[in-house]
Amino acid sequence: RAKESGRNRLRLYELGLYERLREDRALEEALRRALTHQELRLMYQPQFDARDPDRLVGAEALLRWENPEKGTISPARFIPIAEKSDLITELSQRVVALLCEQLGAWRAVGLFSPPISFNVSPKDFRGEGVASGLFRSMARHDVTADQLQIEFTESALIEHSDIVNQEIHRLNAEGIELAIDDFGTGHSSLVNLKRFPLAELKIDKSFVDGLCDNERDEAIVRASLAMAQAFGLRTVAEGVESQQQLAWLQEHGCDRIQGFLLARPLEASSFQAMLRDIQNAT
Ligand code: C2E
Ligand code: MG
Ligand code: MG
Ligand code: MG
Repeated sequence: RAKESGRNRLRLYELGLYERLREDRALEEALRRALTHQELRLMYQPQFDARDPDRLVGAEALLRWENPEKGTISPARFIPIAEKSDLITELSQRVVALLCEQLGAWRAVGLFSPPISFNVSPKDFRGEGVASGLFRSMARHDVTADQLQIEFTESALIEHSDIVNQEIHRLNAEGIELAIDDFGTGHSSLVNLKRFPLAELKIDKSFVDGLCDNERDEAIVRASLAMAQAFGLRTVAEGVESQQQLAWLQEHGCDRIQGFLLARPLEASSFQAMLRDIQNAT
């Protein structure tokens, strides 16, 4: 009987896997259509000065997919699917185009945004890379290097080190700042901090979550902040949800705060209203 139920479990597992693969394939096809049907848009999550949390100092562009049948699909679900196919390159070029277009549109109505960062995938460093398309979009919409910042994770630095090195130095030579995202969650290697021209280190939400109740998370954040400071990197804490976490980060010298406590990701129109308010107030 034990054997029997073991076999059933195996079958169930196989069915689950099969269903999953089928769903992935369907999503991949839907994502391909999404690119041509304008179902993708960016939201903007504000970042604030930790010493003066009323002061907007940056934002992160986050991709959203509105599917007519399935509703909003999370990037945590569709980015990995795009990464497994050739779609990620196209997706990242779309992100870059949408962001540059938006920055151009804001400038056209006299609004100036602090630098906005966007995410790239490790896979973006294969082939032509992200730089060429980015430079084209920037030229088309008259966007300058100081208006943008690129976030990537540590796995990008490990997977294709030669080409990544080349691309990163190309971006940096143009004056585009680079941030290391989700710091400490991947295959971290401290040599990356030394080898690449980074400007910013983002402390992952999973560590921020533990501030004020988990000593180990606190130790990781403290060490990350100290290391960033030693390397002259700006620090951003992501996923800050409570006043206590904010106070802890202020006390320990973190530079910037991103999280639901201060602002959720905003639709472009709401972020635009925020920019307008700030400009009217000064
Ligand atoms: P990430 O780059 O680490 O982005 C931060 C994520 O944390 C965002 O989730 C944001 O909405 C969420 N977040 C920020 N503050 C809080 C908070 O206080 N509480 C909670 N619960 N969440 C918070 P989102 O937008 O769902 O994106 C998830 C991930 O998907 C991103 O993580 C990034 O890795 C990836 N992603 C998003 N947009 C893009 C994109 O345009 N290109 C690529 N390649 N990846 C993207
Ligand atoms: Mg990010
Ligand atoms: Mg992050
Ligand atoms: Mg994260």
